Amino acid sequence: MSIDLIIFDCDGVLVDSEVISCRAHADVLTRHGYPITPEQVSERFLGRSTKQANLEIETELGRKLPEAYHGDLQDQLFRAFEADLEAIRGIHDVLDVVTQRVCVASSGSHQRMQVSLGSTGLYERLAPNIFSSSQVTNGKPAPDLFLFAAREMGVPPKRCVVIEDSLAGIAGARAAGMKVFGFFGGSHCGAGHAETLRRAGADLTFSDMHQLPELVRGVTADVLTG
Ligand SMILES: [Mg+2]
Repeated sequence: MSIDLIIFDCDGVLVDSEVISCRAHADVLTRHGYPITPEQVSERFLGRSTKQANLEIETELGRKLPEAYHGDLQDQLFRAFEADLEAIRGIHDVLDVVTQRVCVASSGSHQRMQVSLGSTGLYERLAPNIFSSSQVTNGKPAPDLFLFAAREMGVPPKRCVVIEDSLAGIAGARAAGMKVFGFFGGSHCGAGHAETLRRAGADLTFSDMHQLPELVRGVTADVLTG
């Protein structure tokens, strides 16, 4: 059985956004009365939706985050994306050569992806096949977003491969019955990230995006010879 659709996570897979994002979240949360470091943000919230993260923080605080928090965060984050964000090395080359269809499935909002993918030249290459957890009831680690993306693209889950850098994303892809490759080439990935992704259930892990076309072909060959 061949792979017909590659579903890319956005943050940490298409754009090298996680370090910038964790720093902005830590700054703004701390300013609004929830002291936290960028490292703690990364450990606790990487790959999960803002809605779920905010709920957890508000439960701990015992109050709603102030209205100004959301605007402040968005301003700081989008300014940082526009100034500093870079595409993952090799992703433009990969999009030039892959023969499968491609789409994006992200825990982030459409507005955030317009800024992050837009400032790295990726938005116009991938639109309109860009899906957000805001379009489904349950975000990652639930399978909903991946199943929604596959349905919108008209491809059965068995013929999809998901490219993910987070544990929540890998769990979601597996629950959707899809192959999942763990990517650890983002600058937020420390030593041991590959092993963590493998233990979470990634079929394989890789850190050089240029390898992706060959890895996807490998899945096909495996199935044919196995
Ligand atoms: Mg990610």
